[in-house]
Amino acid sequence: MRYFIDPFGCVKNQVDAETMMAFLGRAGWVSAPDADSADIIIVNSCGFIESAKRESIGAVLAWRKNYPEKKILLAGCLARRYAKELARSLPEADGLFDNADLAGIAGAAEKAAGKTRPAKPVSRRNGGAGAGAGSPEAAAVSAAAPPDPGRRPLLSLPGSAYVKISEGCNNRCSFCAIPLIRGGLKSRAIPDVLEECRELLARGIGELCVIGQDIGSYGRDFGGAGRDSAAGIAAAGLPGLLEALSTLEGDFWVRLLYIHPDHFPLPILDIMERDKRFLPYFDLPFQHASAKILAAMNRRGTAESYLGLVETIRGRLPAAVIRSTFLLGFPGETNGDFDELLDFQEKARLDWLGCFTWSREEDTPAYSMKGRVAKKIAAERKRIAVERQIPVTEKQMERFIGRTLDVLVEEAVDAEEGLYLGRLYCQAPEVDGAAVIVCKEGEDPPEPGTFVKGKIFGRTGFDLQVSRIAGQG
Ligand code: SF4
Repeated sequence: MRYFIDPFGCVKNQVDAETMMAFLGRAGWVSAPDADSADIIIVNSCGFIESAKRESIGAVLAWRKNYPEKKILLAGCLARRYAKELARSLPEADGLFDNADLAGIAGAAEKAAGKTRPAKPVSRRNGGAGAGAGSPEAAAVSAAAPPDPGRRPLLSLPGSAYVKISEGCNNRCSFCAIPLIRGGLKSRAIPDVLEECRELLARGIGELCVIGQDIGSYGRDFGGAGRDSAAGIAAAGLPGLLEALSTLEGDFWVRLLYIHPDHFPLPILDIMERDKRFLPYFDLPFQHASAKILAAMNRRGTAESYLGLVETIRGRLPAAVIRSTFLLGFPGETNGDFDELLDFQEKARLDWLGCFTWSREEDTPAYSMKGRVAKKIAAERKRIAVERQIPVTEKQMERFIGRTLDVLVEEAVDAEEGLYLGRLYCQAPEVDGAAVIVCKEGEDPPEPGTFVKGKIFGRTGFDLQVSRIAGQG
């Protein structure tokens, strides 16, 4: 039997997809290159915010319309968050798979594949519960977990892999549905993470992107008792994990993504100073800078504390690159609060910034908060923040011009012309700009997934232009 995965959502969901593929492969399923040649289409959904939910449901409806005879399994966060409602209201799906237990994917796929589709075409759903009354109930499947088979294949860019060190989150930011979907924090044991990293490095991976909902919280659920006796290192949160990772041999990058700024573990800066394989790249989702809005978001920071953190990081690691996200239009956000955020934005000189507008999510504390901001106003505030960031990011990127740095090659744009795309340490996969690598005539083409040395000679938009230094890898 052959399956095709249609992926949605964040890179944490991508890691889940990789793990599901590994479990499916072990059970004898084969990955199909496209839906045409698949027996079952697995939509690995996102249920984080309204637009993402609509996109995932839209995908199920589109697959059903285009492939009435195929089986469709809805997996991922949406299937988990709305299991009961979707079982009733989305007859277009032949099954739902709760990603709490990824080991059960093969059982869910088999069950969905064995279902008989209704003789008549299914009705279009309009989102209302019960729209599919009378249709076959979707199959919610859970199975006991066999041992983790490892992740094969990787869905990331060449040379790079995401390593998920924890699941869930205990922070309870008032706007966030993640704890509702993924539950409380569950950190993986250090030896387990180390083993995965070793395996990835042995496969030639050059960049390990460490992810979790908030990797700054890593190990807090160990309750101080966790001890990695194998490596003889106390599991003292993220610093303990980084100490363990620094025992691995070889030349590789470790990129840390998503550290909640309210409990940034400062000791990691010591490790990063010492071991240059930990990239001085920081993804700190500040979300806002008004103390009133941050408190309503159930975050403890202020503009001052966040600027202090930015200064501390840059003081310790002058090469630091900082990315953040802002959430605009949270309930109660006034023009004054927005001005505070713009003031913070100007002072922080962030290298990269993603801006989002608030999405009213059921069962989150913010859902029933008063002072809702009109969508138009929220969108306008987002537009202003994005526009203000453009010259800041461009200027921040210009400081790299003239420097010689390692570049991770990703793909050939025009091999005959010697043009390739890759990334520098200041560019995280998929979210930041790229390095446009120019090779001289007659040079051996660089291999995607490997490092080359390059001199940065210019900037186009957010991308940096790099001339490859021949003979240096
Ligand atoms: S830190 Fe806050 S925003 Fe991030 S996943 Fe946890 S609750 Fe959600």
